Amino acid sequence: MTAAPAAAPAAPAQAPIPSSLTRLADGVHAYLQPDGGWCLNNAGLVVGPDRTVLVDTAATETRARALRSAVRAVDPAGPDYVVNTHFHGDHVFGNGLFTPHATVISHAGTREETAEAGPGLRRLWPDVEWGDPPEALASLTFRDRLTVHTGGPRVELLHVGPAHTANDVIVWVPDASVLFTGDVVWSGVTPFVLMGSISGSLLALDRMRALGPRTVVPGHGPVGGRELLDATEGYLRFLQRTAERGVRDGLTPLEAAGKADLGPYGSWLDPERLVGNLHRAYAEAGGGRPGERLDVAGPFAEMCAYHGGLPACRA
Ligand SMILES: [Zn+2]
Repeated sequence: MTAAPAAAPAAPAQAPIPSSLTRLADGVHAYLQPDGGWCLNNAGLVVGPDRTVLVDTAATETRARALRSAVRAVDPAGPDYVVNTHFHGDHVFGNGLFTPHATVISHAGTREETAEAGPGLRRLWPDVEWGDPPEALASLTFRDRLTVHTGGPRVELLHVGPAHTANDVIVWVPDASVLFTGDVVWSGVTPFVLMGSISGSLLALDRMRALGPRTVVPGHGPVGGRELLDATEGYLRFLQRTAERGVRDGLTPLEAAGKADLGPYGSWLDPERLVGNLHRAYAEAGGGRPGERLDVAGPFAEMCAYHGGLPACRA
């Protein structure tokens, strides 16, 4: 299925741009971009006496500049490091507004994926005012784990992918019991695993639970606690059940999505991701390797068909 929507709706109004950080603990902050829908991601900041670490940036130049202002209100010289949790544009497009002072850190695979994707996300929503921040790939990469010593809260970067993408990293601040999950965990917003893995996400959630975080900052949506891990897991298990029935009944992922009762997940933002997620669930039900490459354009067009047009991006 390749049909694009016949007529995209008028460009939606931009969502409000936050102007400040939310303090979670001494030296640990979240930067929340409501309502958490397409491209409205969260970022995080950890400030120590010696070093400052920013977790992810923002989708547009305007949003990344607002993030930079909020960070500099806390640390006028910072940040020293920018961590990218994964390669999606809403998390990396603003990198270049923090370099060369900041060192960008990512998983080695994320660096490759960021280079390969380039500005591709912008073409999905050409009406968004993306701006033109300079591209900045990670200059420091790792594969398993890395610790940043800030002189204050210790910052642990842990590879947990494939989950939301093939190479996801979470950021754990044990001194404050705060976990920045990137897009492995969502809050009131539909998870998206087309480019990652459902079984891998479930393993990642187990690892996150084992850390025992008190505060969980999801990739999109409001901050919560460990219940966000349970809610994300509930949705992933719903995907697996829906795919199992769809395969049994000989339905395509789009047909299975059309018949599915979303139940409590119908109130989460961006429910059309169900279609893309079922493509991943079908691949895994058929023995596909977690994180293996799947076509993205076809499932995205089907998500538009399910939604009745291009979903809104209010970045
Ligand atoms: Zn993402």
